[in-house]
Amino acid sequence: MTDKIYVVGHKSPDTDSVTSAITYANLKKSLGMAEVVAAAAGDINNETKFILDFFKVAYPEKLTDATDKNVILVDHNEMAQAVDNLNEDNILEIVDHHKIGGIKTGKPIYFINEPIGATGGIIANLYDQSGVKIGKEMAGLMMAAILSDTVLFKSPTCTPKDKVAVEKLSQLAGVDPMKFGMEMLKAKSDVASKSAKDILMGDFKKFDFSGVKAAVGQIEVMDLKDLEPKRAGMLDEMNKVRDAENLDMIVLMLTDVMKESSDLLFVGNAQAAASFETAFGGKISNNSIYKEKVLSRKKQVIPPLEGAFKKAAECK
Ligand code: MG
Ligand code: MG
Ligand code: MG
Repeated sequence: MTDKIYVVGHKSPDTDSVTSAITYANLKKSLGMAEVVAAAAGDINNETKFILDFFKVAYPEKLTDATDKNVILVDHNEMAQAVDNLNEDNILEIVDHHKIGGIKTGKPIYFINEPIGATGGIIANLYDQSGVKIGKEMAGLMMAAILSDTVLFKSPTCTPKDKVAVEKLSQLAGVDPMKFGMEMLKAKSDVASKSAKDILMGDFKKFDFSGVKAAVGQIEVMDLKDLEPKRAGMLDEMNKVRDAENLDMIVLMLTDVMKESSDLLFVGNAQAAASFETAFGGKISNNSIYKEKVLSRKKQVIPPLEGAFKKAAECK
């Protein structure tokens, strides 16, 4: 067991996961915890690179194996999404904004979970509560996390607190949040150079729905047309990953952030397909169900899936 404490977000790290690790590690260091290290549980994406480059913040260490490592989890609280070989007893703290997903610890830990737009907003409050001044760079990172997770305030996960936080953080960071947010979206939407596999695995989360092994990925773009040439390849990749990882189903949300809608690509067995159709009140056609006004995996895709699979399990 090393003395280091890794602050780490979920696998397929998104902006909130990476910037929360950096900003929370920075807060801990400011409070005298010298052994804290910011880490990412995988390669960081183009949007996050743009943000870190813009504010000239170093990329975090990559952590893909948590054997014998002490960790603080940010932006997730489910073992299925956590870095590999993590021992629950080595989790020292959790700071998150998702549903509670079944982690059990042997001893009491510091566990903050608040249903707001991003973990970054929770961490900004923790700076204030601890009396630690938020510098320009950290403010920029926390602002970016909120803008990213709430899709520039459009997602139903966005709360009034998120808007207040962005207002304050953007002043500290010295940027116009909406202009900066559009630049972030452009960086994120640049899919031309990405392979179907990179698109699928870029934001990929596993779930257990009443015993059904599932994964739900998401790619956010400014125009769904950009993904059209990759559709067949993505379905192919979804089938491959489903086989390799022994999953009952995979959903890939192709989210148009301008139209505020998602095309939900589906691969899976017949039973999973039936529950998927129940969840979204439609029929699968051309391997997908298109949903207007659906942007959020957390609030608009996971709950209906969870409900449909629960109902199916009860009817068995
Ligand atoms: Mg996240
Ligand atoms: Mg988040
Ligand atoms: Mg996200």
